[in-house]
Amino acid sequence: MKKVILHSMVTFLTFAGAYGQKGVQDVLKNLEAKTEAYSGIAQDIWELAEMGYLEEESSKLLQQTLGSAGFSIKTGVAGIPTAFVAEYGSGTPVIAILGEYDALPGLSQQAVPEKKSADKAAGHACGHHLFGTASTAAAIAVKDWLVVNKAQGTVRFYGCPAEEGGSGKVYMVRDGLFNDVDVALHWHPGSQNAASAGAALANKSAKFRFHGISAHAAGAPEKGRSALDGVEAMNAMVNLMREHIPERARIHYVITSGGKAPNVVPDFAEVYYYARHNRRDVVIDIFDRMVKAAEGAALGTGTTMDYEMIGGTHELLPNLTLQKLMHDNLSKVGGVEYSAEEREFADKIARSLGYEKADVDRARTVQPYRTEAKAYGSTDVGDVSFAVPTVGMGTATWVPGTPAHSWQAVAAGGTTIGKKGMMVAAKALTLTAIDLFKDKDLVANAKAEFLERRGEDFVYIPLLGDRSPALDYRK
Ligand SMILES: [Zn+2]
Repeated sequence: MKKVILHSMVTFLTFAGAYGQKGVQDVLKNLEAKTEAYSGIAQDIWELAEMGYLEEESSKLLQQTLGSAGFSIKTGVAGIPTAFVAEYGSGTPVIAILGEYDALPGLSQQAVPEKKSADKAAGHACGHHLFGTASTAAAIAVKDWLVVNKAQGTVRFYGCPAEEGGSGKVYMVRDGLFNDVDVALHWHPGSQNAASAGAALANKSAKFRFHGISAHAAGAPEKGRSALDGVEAMNAMVNLMREHIPERARIHYVITSGGKAPNVVPDFAEVYYYARHNRRDVVIDIFDRMVKAAEGAALGTGTTMDYEMIGGTHELLPNLTLQKLMHDNLSKVGGVEYSAEEREFADKIARSLGYEKADVDRARTVQPYRTEAKAYGSTDVGDVSFAVPTVGMGTATWVPGTPAHSWQAVAAGGTTIGKKGMMVAAKALTLTAIDLFKDKDLVANAKAEFLERRGEDFVYIPLLGDRSPALDYRK
């Protein structure tokens, strides 16, 4: 599990277009040959571990890679310094490939099979260093195919920051950056290979801030009004509300500020809430009731309250036309084969998760195709899926059984196991995009399904409203 740091290999990637290979197999071989270079890029982003909207170096590295492969780049799109769009080709179809590169706070971890911090604040516990790199690799491979086949069309890489709680893509959709896109492709690191239909919960999140009056908590309590009381009263009401909301709804919160000392009545307190459900109208209703609870809490405690929308995402709109295509391509590529050394690492990770041995078969095979899925989390890809026909998949970048947002995910992502899963994704994305360039009917069918599922009277209303990007939400 050699670590590869190869900034300089960015220029090496530009040779790709000159191979003169027309066949899809050659494109894949070409991609395979660059495994080391792409692994180096992913490793760099893994080590940088930059959090949402702070991904300056990670974004720059991917931009350089795409730029040196001949893509034209628009950076700082949608009012976000680390967001960018890289494009190659002209005319239609326009095939978008999404990439993410933000890390998670507090999850720093070394690439070893036991819990060991890397002395950093953040870690790539959702594998977005692999996500951004595989999508970049695919965009470049698709470009190579367009060049050697003199095919018409545009391949576009969307550099999407702050997926983790920052709703980066929502601002990009809101700004119309997907308006001329025909199909959007994405993927996500995971602990198995699957291109079945996905699902995601719609989500609204906000920080509720209460303002009171400070006073000596023992000497003059009657002069004080506690902002923390406001937070506690709100939490009590929201917790009562849980009995009267649809069953599958999810509400969670953390108190992000609750005063500094018990002998000072806090004049400021803040609570950060999420509301989720698989239908956005339910989320909107729950959120409105949460605001009422906050207003009531302020009234009852003699404090004032304001709130800031932080995130808001749509549920995921499936597209089975595209899903089947992606499943077939992922099946052609196949899963991840462990070396003896990787197997040893995987067994140690598996034991830390309570399994006896790593389920290497699950890493090696592709899951059967399913048309239905249960949603467990949220993603800003949801908003993209309501803008254009969108399809995604997952590959085994983590040891089977590893949950996202765990130290085990960070650890595997820093080894060749993660990089192998990344290359599986890059290949399956490439094959899927090439099929879409080759077959106009596929694109037309995907569009027809998209329009029908979205409904005739659909109007896009971002769940986070008209706020500007929350660029400092991780500061
Ligand atoms: Zn993620």
